[in-house]
Amino acid sequence: MGPFMRATTRKKRDTVLETALQMFVERGFEQVSVDDIIARANISKGTFYHYFNSKEDILDEVGGRQRRIIEAWLKQPPSQVTSLESHINRLFIDLASNISRYPKLARSIMFLSLQQGEGGSRRPRELDALAESLLHWLPDERKVELLVTVYAGTLLAWCTHGQEDADLTEMLKSNLGWAWAGLRADQPGSDWEPWRTMKEVTTMKVAIIGGGLAGLTAAAYLSEHPGIEGILFERSPQLGGRAFTYEKAGFTLNYGAHAIYGIDRHTISNLERELGLSFSSKQVDKRRVMYAKHGQLTEAPLDFINLMKTELLSTMQKVRFVGEITAIIANIHQLKNYPTLGDYLAESNADEDVKELWEHLVCSNFFITPEEARKVPGHVISDYYHNLFLSSRPVNYILGSWAVITNQLRQKLAVSGRWEVALQEGVDGIRYADRKFVLQTKTRELEFDRVVFAMPVQQVVKLLKGTAWEPFVAPYEGNTATEVMVYDVGLERVVARPFSYISDMDNKMFITDVSATDHTLVPEGGQLLQGIAYLSDNFEGEQERKAYLEQKTAQMEALFDTHYPGWREAVAVKRVSKKAMVASVKNIASNALLPNRVENVPFYFCGDGCVGKGELAERAFSSARSVAKMILQEAAKVPVGV
Ligand SMILES: Cc1cc2nc3c(=O)[nH]c(=O)nc-3n(C[C@H](O)[C@H](O)[C@H](O)COP(=O)(O)OP(=O)(O)OC[C@H]3O[C@@H](n4cnc5c(N)ncnc54)[C@H](O)[C@@H]3O)c2cc1C
Repeated sequence: MGPFMRATTRKKRDTVLETALQMFVERGFEQVSVDDIIARANISKGTFYHYFNSKEDILDEVGGRQRRIIEAWLKQPPSQVTSLESHINRLFIDLASNISRYPKLARSIMFLSLQQGEGGSRRPRELDALAESLLHWLPDERKVELLVTVYAGTLLAWCTHGQEDADLTEMLKSNLGWAWAGLRADQPGSDWEPWRTMKEVTTMKVAIIGGGLAGLTAAAYLSEHPGIEGILFERSPQLGGRAFTYEKAGFTLNYGAHAIYGIDRHTISNLERELGLSFSSKQVDKRRVMYAKHGQLTEAPLDFINLMKTELLSTMQKVRFVGEITAIIANIHQLKNYPTLGDYLAESNADEDVKELWEHLVCSNFFITPEEARKVPGHVISDYYHNLFLSSRPVNYILGSWAVITNQLRQKLAVSGRWEVALQEGVDGIRYADRKFVLQTKTRELEFDRVVFAMPVQQVVKLLKGTAWEPFVAPYEGNTATEVMVYDVGLERVVARPFSYISDMDNKMFITDVSATDHTLVPEGGQLLQGIAYLSDNFEGEQERKAYLEQKTAQMEALFDTHYPGWREAVAVKRVSKKAMVASVKNIASNALLPNRVENVPFYFCGDGCVGKGELAERAFSSARSVAKMILQEAAKVPVGV
């Protein structure tokens, strides 16, 4: 029966359905024959078989529609997922509104399934399938169980409700609201609510320049304050900056960022609590993270188990390395007192293999070459690994890509009603006049009380050129960025799945099987691999740089050939970028991160090139959070316009 069935035909069919189900409930499914149904419904045998193949078909009727809703939900691309909570609620609401189209039918099926489930002691198979599907987005069985129970409980309450017209979707929305509130309350509390204690409401106009992770985060925090309104300026057509996500041929590709390092100790967990974000994440399988050295593969020493297994170190070297990790965790490692890793290694009496391992760890976490790894300050490395080694979840992916985060931050601005997102509107100039900061774009000039720069440091310096503030930011002009080569391939099938991550210690590059961890990013059966090569930025001229990049590309393709044979024939999507900026300021001793406030400059600065906790995206989040906190505190005490 097609989807365009006439209304009268549909009505007749529904009547047969309801009659049959009513009989199943009264007598039990086994005790009712097709002939009994025909007699009670007063139809011919031909009519019955026109609609249904058998009486089992009848039972499958509502279940089939529900299954199709779930299948469509599972196929939704991640970039359309605004938040985990709303995405999951959407499925429940869609299922409920389908059921409420057939109230009598649904009630009969419910009673029947209770009968068949031996008085309710066994959960219907449909609910198991629903739970299974939810795990796709929310890999936490305890939470899924709770939500499915709320759904089933609401259905039961609705079915047994005396009033025919009780609104199932409204009942469900309300109950899910309570369930999510309970799940959120399960997380530790937060002291981040400076504005809640404010008595007076001020009106402060804030401009944020840059719609990457930092700009979006700062704006989301400020949007919660009723006395602050603002504009988020972004010169490109979309938000997200280097954490921008896009879709191509069914694959979801992140322009840059993928992993969250040490998520349980990461600033994103503060954002989750304080801004009420909801997302799930998946841990990369530590047992499948490998290092390759001189053609040999071995476990990366990410934790004690891998360290014992790895062939990179001898037993004595392992003992030494465990000692080093323990000292880092206890915060007593000497490394923090050395200007750079190179200085520490020069004086360390450790074997060369241990030294090489240190160097390689820094290469892979800071996305840089060994020469640069030796220039990273000792205290930076010590702080970074202190945090990472204490984490129980060292490498995680946000399920469904970073769009799940950026969509929610954007939504917060929209909901506040006090923030404008100005896309494709770059800020070209800034000046001070009549106690206001005047920002200039191609189409307008606007006045603000506060201005936040949330963009790479080099671009900040450019924008302030020729202004009175230029000399104060000039010291940051010479900062060098961390650039890598990115080689993304979407494959139409899984060609091989030997590891989740493989790091080539000889050529300083790695390949991640992104889809081995995040299955939501690929079409059915597909595979998404990302290759990244750390790049040197020390060249005599353009010719030398070009030759170097060509050599890196060839090495990357050879690495794919070794571990993913057949990948070339299976490519559905490919993106190669030979100059992707991972960090706007490389965290080496000769560079200086831009402070959030600079003396004699009235602006605020955030982004991954600014002072903040962590590296990469975490520094963008943490510096933006600090800047927002400063402005919120000012809004609490300073009259606007002064
Ligand atoms: C290949 C790659 C892999 C990465 N992997 C990871 C990872 O695994 N984990 C991790 O934590 N991080 C990773 N990162 C780093 C992460 O993506 C960045 O640290 C983060 O996205 C930086 O955010 P941001 O807001 O500071 O800067 P940006 O994302 O650069 O945002 C700045 C925004 O400002 C806009 N802008 C600039 N000038 C103006 C102007 N005048 N007017 C208006 N708008 C302007 C820009 O268009 C841009 O959108 C990776 C990056 C890359 C490139």
